[in-house]
Amino acid sequence: YLEIPMALERTLSIIKPDAVGKNVIGEIYTRFEKAGLKIVAARMKHLSRAEAEGFYAVHRERPFFNALVEFMTSGPVMIQALEGDNAVLKHRDLMGATNPKDAAAGTIRADFADSIDANAVHGSDSLENAAIEIAYFFPSTDVHAR
Ligand code: ADP
Ligand code: MG
Repeated sequence: YLEIPMALERTLSIIKPDAVGKNVIGEIYTRFEKAGLKIVAARMKHLSRAEAEGFYAVHRERPFFNALVEFMTSGPVMIQALEGDNAVLKHRDLMGATNPKDAAAGTIRADFADSIDANAVHGSDSLENAAIEIAYFFPSTDVHAR
């Protein structure tokens, strides 16, 4: 029979200012590690307005854009690239739905997010966007093969 290999992928994760403020970086990292996602790059950063606007440029026409940028610049964030089998979808599953009211029990957003605005984490939504988002924050020399 044909054995179908899992795809080794990388994705971008951001622990947002609300979750950094709740002191749960370690708890969230543990969820990544238990799911087989390796941290291959990481940095803490207080985003400037321009950095947040650039990162979320795809949403600039949305009514929530200003509030999103305001929130993402309200305190430091923890940014990491994660690597593993099917990392993009695996990470989205760990995160849960955008609105924590809709997030499945046991997901990061169900456990740590307060609202659709302050929803604890970001994760790339596709392999193409993952590559763009990782490059936005990390020069390739700062992403470490493991
Ligand atoms: P996700 O982060 O799950 O990929 P989106 O890419 O749709 O969600 O939106 C980016 C971020 O913008 C969300 O995580 C959330 O913080 C914010 N956002 C999305 N939709 C809304 C909304 N209707 N009202 C307020 N904030 C929103
Ligand atoms: Mg998104």
